[in-house]
Amino acid sequence: MTNIQTKIIHDSNNRNRFEGLINPAISRTSTVLYKNYEDFWEDEKQGFSDKSYGRAGTATTKALANALSNMAGVEYTIITSSGMSAITTSLLSLLQPGDSILVPDNIYVCTRRFLDEELAKLNIEVIYYDPLLEEGIRDFIKDNTKILYLESPGSGTFEVQNLPLLTSIAKEKNIITILDDSWATSLNLPSFKLGVDITVSSLTKYINGHSDVFLGAISTNNPEIYQQLYCTLRNLGGNASPDDCYLALRGMRTLATRLKTQSESSIEIAKWLENQPQIIKVMHPALPSFSTHHLWKRDFKGSSATFSFIIDYDVTTVKKFVNRLKLFGIGLSWGGYESLIMPLNLRKYRRYGWHDYQGEVIRLHIGLENPQDLIIDLKMNMQINN
Ligand SMILES: *Cc1c(COP(=O)(O)O)cnc(C)c1O
Repeated sequence: MTNIQTKIIHDSNNRNRFEGLINPAISRTSTVLYKNYEDFWEDEKQGFSDKSYGRAGTATTKALANALSNMAGVEYTIITSSGMSAITTSLLSLLQPGDSILVPDNIYVCTRRFLDEELAKLNIEVIYYDPLLEEGIRDFIKDNTKILYLESPGSGTFEVQNLPLLTSIAKEKNIITILDDSWATSLNLPSFKLGVDITVSSLTKYINGHSDVFLGAISTNNPEIYQQLYCTLRNLGGNASPDDCYLALRGMRTLATRLKTQSESSIEIAKWLENQPQIIKVMHPALPSFSTHHLWKRDFKGSSATFSFIIDYDVTTVKKFVNRLKLFGIGLSWGGYESLIMPLNLRKYRRYGWHDYQGEVIRLHIGLENPQDLIIDLKMNMQINN
């Protein structure tokens, strides 16, 4: 069997790709014309099919969906206008008033905001759990629990969840599992082999990789769930632009190479940080000293390059340090070619373990720069005397 990296490059080894062209055309359209009057009414009778309107996607959208399905080894992929759109579409599609959803406490903050501000309005109960729970998750499951939401590693603090155990408990209890795999991508996390029902991904991050596109994807092997999610996306109108799909397809070709380089650099930097006297803790799943490293090692095939550390500085000293850096931009998001730094305030919203801690938490995204240059930038600016 061909290596996945080769499959991505050869678009699953299909030599007759796009009528001989190695790249798909960018097909932009709103209207799709019918052959004739009868054809129109035939389609209307069936409530208008996928073919009838550009909102359902064009050949370019489908090319990206196919490429992502091939990479993940999954049947169905739906492309959405952003990672958030993938998340909100799947939750709005599957949940009803009266249902309950279990959510890890280290969930991506914008997802948290959606749950607290939008789902709560629909009388859907959102229950946060400690992401480190294993068998203990059973205590949170109730008769109305519909979804066990997973994010591994989680945002900000990067705890790795025990996915095979959690998905097997969910299966036993007839609960649907949704996993946000944006950090690892399906290249490095075989979610469906670990029993996950649905993955949601921000393609904005590593898959596109160039900080110039917003896109998301939902994948599943379940045909009924796929149909339901697809209809909800159409109803909500969260469809993606073909131009963005083209860029994400282009980004995907170099995903394996970028992830390898960036993750190696990030581990080098994480190891360096770990030995600095100001650092209390480095939170990187691929770092042997990290608490859930054993789960990452067991379940993941590789790493990416976003991680955090806790520094024994007060806020004023952190401000000096961050402002002095030359190579790290202060900015949201991650997964692009350039290194970024972001201070985090976990005390504000975390419920489990993070309302009180010493020092300040800082997140890094390591780009494609030379890692030694990045270490020098950190080193020069970490020694704060004034
Ligand atoms: C950024 C991010 C998202 C949202 O993706 P967008 O494409 O920015 O909407 C979802 N989950 C995680 C873990 C993220 O980091």
